[in-house]
Amino acid sequence: MSKHCDPSDIALKSFFLGPQAENAEMVSHIFHHIVERWILWRRNRFPDDGCAISNDDQNTREYRNALKKVNTLVDELMSRFEGEVPKFSPRYIGHMFSEISLPALFGHCMTLLHNPNNVSAEASRVGIKIEHEAIVELLNMCGFDVNQSTGHFTSGGTVANFEAAIRAKWRMMRWLSIACKSKSQKFWEGTHFQAANLGWTQFHELHRRFDFSDESESELYLSSPLEAGRLIAESFGKFSEPVLLIPAHRHYSWEKIAVLLGYGKNNLIPVELDRHGTISITDLIKKLEWCRKAERPIAMLVSVLGTTELGLVDPIHEIQRVVDDYKNSKNIFIWHHIDAAFGGFFCSLKDTHGLIDDKLKADLNSVASADSFTIDPHKLGYVPYSCGAVLIRDRWQNQLPVQPTPYIDFHDDDRGHFTLEGSRSAAGATATWLTAKTIGFNADGYGRILGRTIESGRILRQALKEIVPNVHIPTSADTNILCFCVGKSGEPLTVVNERTRQIFEQFSPYKESDFYVSKTDIPIDRYSEFLKANFPDWSPNKNCSHLMLIRVCLMNPFFTSAEPKINYPHSFAESLAQFLRGRL
Ligand SMILES: *Cc1c(COP(=O)(O)O)cnc(C)c1O
Repeated sequence: MSKHCDPSDIALKSFFLGPQAENAEMVSHIFHHIVERWILWRRNRFPDDGCAISNDDQNTREYRNALKKVNTLVDELMSRFEGEVPKFSPRYIGHMFSEISLPALFGHCMTLLHNPNNVSAEASRVGIKIEHEAIVELLNMCGFDVNQSTGHFTSGGTVANFEAAIRAKWRMMRWLSIACKSKSQKFWEGTHFQAANLGWTQFHELHRRFDFSDESESELYLSSPLEAGRLIAESFGKFSEPVLLIPAHRHYSWEKIAVLLGYGKNNLIPVELDRHGTISITDLIKKLEWCRKAERPIAMLVSVLGTTELGLVDPIHEIQRVVDDYKNSKNIFIWHHIDAAFGGFFCSLKDTHGLIDDKLKADLNSVASADSFTIDPHKLGYVPYSCGAVLIRDRWQNQLPVQPTPYIDFHDDDRGHFTLEGSRSAAGATATWLTAKTIGFNADGYGRILGRTIESGRILRQALKEIVPNVHIPTSADTNILCFCVGKSGEPLTVVNERTRQIFEQFSPYKESDFYVSKTDIPIDRYSEFLKANFPDWSPNKNCSHLMLIRVCLMNPFFTSAEPKINYPHSFAESLAQFLRGRL
């Protein structure tokens, strides 16, 4: 390792406070400036009104006592928060968070001072415009057509996934409603499976032939699942429940969605994983054909860009080809959603050279063909909580039946009538906006930071292999998450898992450690092909059904910096090796 960073990387160092608060002076200065501007704004707004708090007021005992209480408790809370997990340090390599960027922090904090509510322009004159511009930045990074696509900020990936699932459901129910009516008027002959995956062209054709009211379009969507099923069965003489095709490595938010949107947990059909640990195209086609034969409407298909456990990327390019094929040759329109809550920002790498392989590049270049996309700026965007976003490829697929709200006049720019959440802070949008305009969501900005984190993964892998005996690290690693366990061949899995648990306890956020990691547990049957391909020289005695792995998210931009006295990758590997002495 050279002793100094590349000059082009040095600019990026201004975007973080630094592990030792190296940029403290600049940060204090900007914070001070933000507060000053806030005070001046207020003073200049209605200057002739006169003061409501007088100097005499400020000198009373009551006033001083109340203020003392605030001061004491502010101090008390700051002391309590000093007990927080030190996520800013390169020694924190656990979950999907680390240092936050300064532009994001400034954007977030200045928004809090103005407190806009992005439910409507009545409550957020400026915040709504910033949200719109920040969405354009995200759309551009991911390759969507900004004139055709849209989206909005959410409190996180779970809500963003809900937002996409709601729109997919609304589209399906709208198509089904029109087809139901057309069927009963006897000018359309199709099955309820065809109706559910109808496509807009046929939908508009049916619309032309009969003047449907808005109510008849939303009838099924607004009904209970039981009532909707009854109405469909009445029109088609048959009803089988719609399914969600979601890979076996899905995030747990999909269970909530299946249950809360009325699909039922059993209709969440897992697509199996191949030897890369990602969606098996063979199984995907098998499942799609099963749906077709069993006439199970396909409410949506989900693929994942950056799985929560292993950071893997589904073969999005190939999946989209399958979806297009069903559309073009079979007239079956499937809503394809990409859950990129974790990995969405890797799209900033799509124009780089040599950093990522061709498969990943092709996947990143296909994301804009999907119907919807979840991205969490509060994960790889280095933005403070809570900040997620949902992107929708076609504006007309974004609109939902609007509930009348007599006390708010919604305008065209407003998102409030279509969002699941009501009141929404503009803080996440502003944080994302300022990050986009400063660091840049492109190869020279985020691409550089994220490229560096991928490189950190490679360096740590090498250090672990050199220093820790019997360490097993899957060779499939698309991004910056690295998982491993330590064990000998023939050793019972229960023993290996117990060792992983002990490692986690040693490097756990539940106590003061010199490094912090996370862990995960993967079911052996779900990942059988993956395990075979990824651990070719290790064959444990499989006496239990799961494998526990230490999980490391290498998000900190300073983990492999050349300047610090400590070499973090080496130091972690040494610390681990020392802990394992006598335990192997
Ligand atoms: C983190 C994550 C989510 C959920 O996001 P939250 O912001 O925690 O609600 C969904 N999907 C994937 C793949 C994730 O990694």
